Amino acid sequence: MSWETVMGLEVHLQLATASKIFSGAANKFGADPNSQACAVDLGMPGMLPVLNEQAVRYAVMFGLGIDARIGKRSIFDRKNYFYPDLPKGYQVSQFFEPIVCEGVFQVPLSDGSLFPIRITRAHLEEDAGKSVHDRFPGQTGVDLNRAGTPLLEIVTEPDFRTAEQAVAYLKALHSLVTYLGISDGNMAEGSMRCDINLSLRPTGSDSYGTRTEIKNVNSFRFVEKAIAAETARQQELLEDGVSIVQETRLYDADRDETRSMRSKEVANDYRYFPEPDLLPIVLTDDYIDSVRQALPELPAAKRERFIAQYQLSDYDAALLVSSPDMAAYFEKAVTLCDEPKAIANWMLGDLSAALNKEGIPVSQSPVEPQNLAGLVARITDGTLSSKLGKQVFEALWQGEGSADQIIEARGLRQVSDTGALEKLVADVMSENQDQVAQYRAADSSKQKQLIGFFVGQIMKASKGQANPQLINKILTEALDSD
Ligand code: ADP
Ligand code: MG
Repeated sequence: MSWETVMGLEVHLQLATASKIFSGAANKFGADPNSQACAVDLGMPGMLPVLNEQAVRYAVMFGLGIDARIGKRSIFDRKNYFYPDLPKGYQVSQFFEPIVCEGVFQVPLSDGSLFPIRITRAHLEEDAGKSVHDRFPGQTGVDLNRAGTPLLEIVTEPDFRTAEQAVAYLKALHSLVTYLGISDGNMAEGSMRCDINLSLRPTGSDSYGTRTEIKNVNSFRFVEKAIAAETARQQELLEDGVSIVQETRLYDADRDETRSMRSKEVANDYRYFPEPDLLPIVLTDDYIDSVRQALPELPAAKRERFIAQYQLSDYDAALLVSSPDMAAYFEKAVTLCDEPKAIANWMLGDLSAALNKEGIPVSQSPVEPQNLAGLVARITDGTLSSKLGKQVFEALWQGEGSADQIIEARGLRQVSDTGALEKLVADVMSENQDQVAQYRAADSSKQKQLIGFFVGQIMKASKGQANPQLINKILTEALDSD
């Protein structure tokens, strides 16, 4: 029997506001424990929340960015539960009427096609604090710095069928929120946390199976692995005739398996009711329009523009627009050297590889856009072969100056002077007379091998600086005459 995996994702996105959603305490990652929690965040009696306007604006920006319907009237609700990191005994969330309603998000897949994902809703809520288990032996600490951090919870319909689609969605979401500037989207620091709801059903069936929810997966790679592990677990149970228990599970990366955390709560358990300390959020059309006017160019539009304006492939364009910094780097380089395809190749090839290796973002690249443009210009005008280009790139990376300075300092100019090249060819031929004789007696496939040998010798003699096209031409002429 074959099975189909069905998934819906819930993403908790920390919004990059200066202060908390209901208090004036700073909203920054990494401060000393409990140094950024004021009386409101601590849930002291009598404290009243004041809504942060910037959090509302960010939520509306997100809604407009995915073409969703904006809830013109939304309300906050209390979600009641007890946990040591939640001093009030309830979380302020939006349950009955969210600020962002249904929408469709077009997710670019790696083949360049778009995959539509239905967004159910996105609502504002406050984050809880953190329990710290690894600091005091045998005890648990509570750090309330995170309490009151504004979150946008983004919920999709069960539209995903493969891990690839899920990861593509998360990457596109990450890209969108960084363009909007509403979150840093840093998964490792918990700014973007993903819950995966997953069930299986027999292929061809049109009803859904019982699902589990895998909580707080914190990297793209773990999303992929958690989906594979949970799919395998559920399939084995179903094939043994055991039914799936609806529950919350954790992905354990060390053991590459999911583990039961708790049975699933249902909405009733939380006794949701409207938050009496906060007024409804009422948005006017003028306000929504003014937010729309101020939106930056978003990834989907930029991608279309890159394809049209620079004749890039869907694939290259999708990679280049994946972050605003990457796109800005590209456009800066192209204004200095009008070779979009070559610039894209260097960026997606050598530059990305070097950045990944060192783990630095493109905004901190030691090779700046003007330097990459300078390099591509010297390859395009024939000063450098692509092989020498790689050497110059290395030197740019080491901070040895501009491409022209490096070419000068290292004497890397490609030799295209016919007289000099003819002499090189003649020298190598007279040093390798046996091979010359073999060439002249050989069939064409053997000849090809020998050409490779001669070119190798000539490049070596020229320290890699001979123009390869010219060498090929002069060499074959010399070998074929006589
Ligand atoms: P809850 O209120 O318990 O969180 P929701 O109905 O809001 O449940 O769904 C939460 C998430 O689970 C959504 O992303 C939804 O698409 C997904 N989901 C719902 N049913 C299934 C299912 N049978 N299989 C996989 N995902 C599902
Ligand atoms: Mg939920």
